[in-house]
Amino acid sequence: MQPTDKPWFTESCDECGSAFSLSLTDKQKVHEEQTPFQKIEVYETEKFGNLMTIDGFVMLTTRDNFLYHEMMTHPVLFTHPDPKRVLIIGGGDCGTLREVLRHPGVELAQQVDIDEGVTRASEKYFPELCESNGDPRAELHFADGLKWVKEAEAGYYDVIIVDSTDPIGPAEGLFGEAFFRDCLRALGDDGIMVQQSESPLFHMKLLEAIHTYMRRAGFDHSQTLHFPQPVYPSGWWTCTMASKSPFNGFREEASAARPFKTLYYSPEVHKGALALPPFMQEAFENL
Ligand code: SAM
Repeated sequence: MQPTDKPWFTESCDECGSAFSLSLTDKQKVHEEQTPFQKIEVYETEKFGNLMTIDGFVMLTTRDNFLYHEMMTHPVLFTHPDPKRVLIIGGGDCGTLREVLRHPGVELAQQVDIDEGVTRASEKYFPELCESNGDPRAELHFADGLKWVKEAEAGYYDVIIVDSTDPIGPAEGLFGEAFFRDCLRALGDDGIMVQQSESPLFHMKLLEAIHTYMRRAGFDHSQTLHFPQPVYPSGWWTCTMASKSPFNGFREEASAARPFKTLYYSPEVHKGALALPPFMQEAFENL
């Protein structure tokens, strides 16, 4: 039973034994569409703004998407010495693209999402996330990210951000060793990839597998960062970076002097996100 008799959206996670709910306005659902790839729905919530789901799973809300989008973007861009060409796989809501384009040194930001429907829905219901789509450095492509990376020119990208759905359906391959090997080939010598890597409370097996596959694919170094994300299962989320060269911290001075406003990211938060609790440290040391 929900706490009140208002309309609610609820996402249940059977494997986690938990559920998350948001109260809705009387309008409730404002968009529903079955694309060739997935079912996209948008709800109007009482306190979290708009909510987009894909196949019933929460993707983002107006209120808290800044946490995820800033942490998928700024740590990796301030870790690379000089990122100019950035590829985003997935990310169709354009929030990651907007954050990438805040970096003046970025010359090209390509977003490759399999489903144009996600971007069109985001333009309508999350227009603030799409405000940089007209930037001359931005390219929006609608294609399978697996194929895109396989066919990419070797050494072309500085950073690859994998902003994907959960590892089921069209995103399954985006968590696999073969895809990571293709990313490695598409990255320059200093190149770094970052993958959204789910909840440390609920998905440690997947997190361990991501590190293992990244190393097997030829990345010598991998590193997980953690951050809050209230609308995802457990409210606690991660991204995992992989690189050929060792991670020697990040460009702290540049991060402190960033010429744009952030709501969550800062150099201090960046350092905190890299400080792993013992249970995560132990899991990754024992791989
Ligand atoms: N961060 C969100 C989460 O964890 O719930 C995901 C946001 S973003 C909307 C995820 C995007 O990945 C979707 O728009 C989906 O279309 C895209 N996607 C899934 N599989 C893909 C693939 N193989 N190639 C490119 N994009 C893909």
